[in-house]
Amino acid sequence: MPTVAFHTLGCKVNHYETEGIWNMFKENGYERVEFDRQSDVYVINTCTVTNTGDKKSRQVIRRAVRKNPDAVVCVTGCYAQTSPGEIMEIPGVDVIVGTQNRKNMIDYIEQHQRTREPINGVSNIMKNRVFEEMDVPAFTDRTRASLKIQEGCNNFCTFCIIPWSRGLLRSRDPENVIEQAQNLVDAGYKEIVLTGIHTAGYGEDMNDYNFARLLRELETRVDGLKRIRISSIEASQITDEVIDVLDKSEKIVRHLHIPLQAGSDSVLHRMRRKYSTGYYKQKIDKIRKALPGLAITSDVIVGFPGETKEEFMETYQFVREIGYSELHVFPFSRRTGTPAARMNDQVDDDIKNERVNQMIELSNQLAKKYASDYEEEVLEVIPEEQVDEGSANFLQGYTDNYLKVRFSGSPELIGKLVRVKITKSGYPYNEGVFVRVMDDAAGAADKQPI
Ligand code: SF4
Repeated sequence: MPTVAFHTLGCKVNHYETEGIWNMFKENGYERVEFDRQSDVYVINTCTVTNTGDKKSRQVIRRAVRKNPDAVVCVTGCYAQTSPGEIMEIPGVDVIVGTQNRKNMIDYIEQHQRTREPINGVSNIMKNRVFEEMDVPAFTDRTRASLKIQEGCNNFCTFCIIPWSRGLLRSRDPENVIEQAQNLVDAGYKEIVLTGIHTAGYGEDMNDYNFARLLRELETRVDGLKRIRISSIEASQITDEVIDVLDKSEKIVRHLHIPLQAGSDSVLHRMRRKYSTGYYKQKIDKIRKALPGLAITSDVIVGFPGETKEEFMETYQFVREIGYSELHVFPFSRRTGTPAARMNDQVDDDIKNERVNQMIELSNQLAKKYASDYEEEVLEVIPEEQVDEGSANFLQGYTDNYLKVRFSGSPELIGKLVRVKITKSGYPYNEGVFVRVMDDAAGAADKQPI
């Protein structure tokens, strides 16, 4: 049996796609082995979101070539899409496939095995208007299943290279989304995270369908699905219809990730983010009114070119005012090829680091405050893994409102929906005690995901 090994860099979408690529290999009779073992084929799914992403991708490619110089080394993903020439120059790289036409990957590999000629299968992504289907029936090491519903982005924020690696926005056929979701539930997953590059932009390229309708159909048509999580939603995508769906839903979790990036109008303008702080705040107020207690997380970039102390403080105050339950703080990264990388007034690393620390400190305070409201409450948790703490074994998982919880319980509970009482709130995790299992139904729906 031929063997294949994978290494994935970057985001959830890449991890999702590696599982889809692995599924294709499996159907072609391959066996999967660990990346540090000898393999006939190595597939490296690369990331290009920062210059460091490129560098790390190159390192991993070289590692694969060293491991088995006779193997076929196939490079795919975002860095492969944007810089195929650079990758071809790395000695030992045999096949390159970007972020589309993955269905050709195995043919290219077999062709290379016959001819020994390098193959560059990357084509222009900007011309692509169709979502590329890939089956992902299960995940190798996760309890939470991702489901990719869309590809690409039309926004072209000045700091971001992603539209160049993923192309323009295109949505997955709704029937295929429902079918994939049902397959995942049948494989034992309780929670599905809807993922994409600009996830809630789903439907913007369709005339008679939209994101709200997809949510409604997932809720009503997928048997046995317990939780739906949206990986990210822009403020502008929180329409009245989406609010109504969230309000009525029993499955969509009480958590939204709504990227902010900056809480200063002048910085937002330089980022080309297409909204003001006033607009963003208004959306938050509206959704909080409909869904009190909603956990809102966000991304913030600190040290964007030209960011003054005053602008940083505007962001700081705005973040405090919104009261997020957690923030992902990123120091601005000068991504070659983006307009922001060429801007004057780049912020010194020292200042950037200082501001990052200040913002992380604020995020920690806000997270603790949000969690403290849930002390003594009984919440639904899906334990995802076992964690060792000295001599004791704990289970760890997330509540629907995205609190990380540790509690003592049997490993058989992993992947199930259970009730846990929060006994001590905190950050990065809360402590709790197991109350009971929510669903004891026998059969496929209760199988452990592998
Ligand atoms: S919205 Fe902006 S940051 Fe997000 S993928 Fe599109 S261009 Fe990049």
